[in-house]
Amino acid sequence: MGFLEYAPSPESTAILHLKKSYGLFIDGEFRKGHGKAFVTISPSTEERIADIANASEADVDAAVKAARRAYERTWSKLSGADRGKYLFRIARLVQERARELAVAESLDNGKPIKESRDVDVPLVAAWFFYYAGWADKLDYAGLGPAPASLGVAAQVIPWNFPLLMLAWKIAPALAAGNTVVIKPAETTPLSALIFAEILQQAELPPGVVNIITGAGDTGSALVNHPDVNKVAFTGSTEVGRLIAKSTAGSGKKLTLELGGKAANIVFDDAPIEEAIEGIVNGIFFNQGHVCCAGSRLLVQENVHDEVVDRLKTRLSTLRLGDPLDKNTDIGAINSRAQLDRIRELSDIGESEGADRWTAECVIPDKGFWFAPTIFTNVEASHRIAREEIFGPVLSVLTFRTPAEAVAKANNTPYGLSAGIWTDKGSKILAVADQLRAGVVWANTFNRFDPSSPFGGYKESGYGREGGRHGLAAYLQSSGWGAKR
Ligand code: NAP
Ligand code: MG
Repeated sequence: MGFLEYAPSPESTAILHLKKSYGLFIDGEFRKGHGKAFVTISPSTEERIADIANASEADVDAAVKAARRAYERTWSKLSGADRGKYLFRIARLVQERARELAVAESLDNGKPIKESRDVDVPLVAAWFFYYAGWADKLDYAGLGPAPASLGVAAQVIPWNFPLLMLAWKIAPALAAGNTVVIKPAETTPLSALIFAEILQQAELPPGVVNIITGAGDTGSALVNHPDVNKVAFTGSTEVGRLIAKSTAGSGKKLTLELGGKAANIVFDDAPIEEAIEGIVNGIFFNQGHVCCAGSRLLVQENVHDEVVDRLKTRLSTLRLGDPLDKNTDIGAINSRAQLDRIRELSDIGESEGADRWTAECVIPDKGFWFAPTIFTNVEASHRIAREEIFGPVLSVLTFRTPAEAVAKANNTPYGLSAGIWTDKGSKILAVADQLRAGVVWANTFNRFDPSSPFGGYKESGYGREGGRHGLAAYLQSSGWGAKR
């Protein structure tokens, strides 16, 4: 292959102080779980990392009770400025322990260290800094004077950005004056448990944040607990639908951040080099385990061949392998179950008649891997054009006019994000206006900032996370005159 070889450059795991087993973090301390403990593995080696406690229904109840007590006795009595001080402290501790958190995240999740180190963990700190700043300014958030907190928030998060999704959930909840019980995903509990140590270091009052590990039934027990006031969920549309049903009529405030099938639209006047980088970032970042991934490339017909050729050349330079190696671009697929799903949908794409192309790379013997893959000649009716694959697989479709691009982009049950690549500002504005997507990126993709609201239309869920809008999800809607 014509490119320079790189020497291996693995990040050491010596910085981790892993315990053999982790308990549940309830009321400020680690406790035994009463369910059957499980093991978290590294998806790149299939090796055991640690034993993880499993929260039974009684454990979930204990966590909710701890959160309720902390809400009533301490957290709701603190001033916004004092809540902010804790959040600032947490943000600084995340920065201090950034390398350790990045190594833990890459080990447990399989994502490349350069992503966990340069994207996930810095954004986690940014989220806490940002909402720390809001804690004493809620009266000025445009949500009414003295907006009131909700109480106990139940939060369930997925495995694709374990620590970042935790930050998206916990930071606004605490800033707005709520207490929290959160459940990380079964395959990626490690960074949340290190985060629990950070909460102890920050001397956050016991019970303000409780972190309970377990599988789907633990998540279900948590969101259905009668004493929670707010449910925040990120994950599959299927589970989101279950939660919407089971919480309906309960008085619980609900936000759902679900799947996506985003269109990344490349017009013929786009700067092609940059567009190629944006397409790669859009679908191959984090192995495509991204709800807002640009998984449908809509490319204007007259530049289709050029874009696809250049894309293949670029993909041939990506390095797949050890997530802890600083040169790695594509890490491991998070679990065998997810790998099976990606394989199945890709095989279906082939049998439906699309053309499959796979980047040549050496697949390690152990672990879960999927080489970057492109499907061309994809039709709108193909399952790979409609369903979320949640892996490093791009479906390429074409269009001739802006109107056709918009129609095709909106032809999906989802509506989380979209991308537009063109040299013309007026075209960006005109097209963005017509896209039914919560986030539209122009000449960039997968950019996140704590001040910018994020969330979906249609089956991608409802509610916004980030920014001032993210606070609204954790405050009573009519804040007028209510006590905080
Ligand atoms: P999932 O089942 O929706 O998992 C998300 C979270 O919900 C996890 O913490 C999960 O626990 C928990 N959970 C599962 N069943 C639950 C229930 N009945 N009540 C409450 N919580 C429950 O998603 P997945 O199975 O990991 O992934 C399946 C597909 O979902 C993916 O292929 C992808 O298409 C999509 N997905 C989307 C996002 C996103 O960011 N929007 C994230 C992940 C996955 P366990 O992990 O312990 O089962
Ligand atoms: Mg794991």
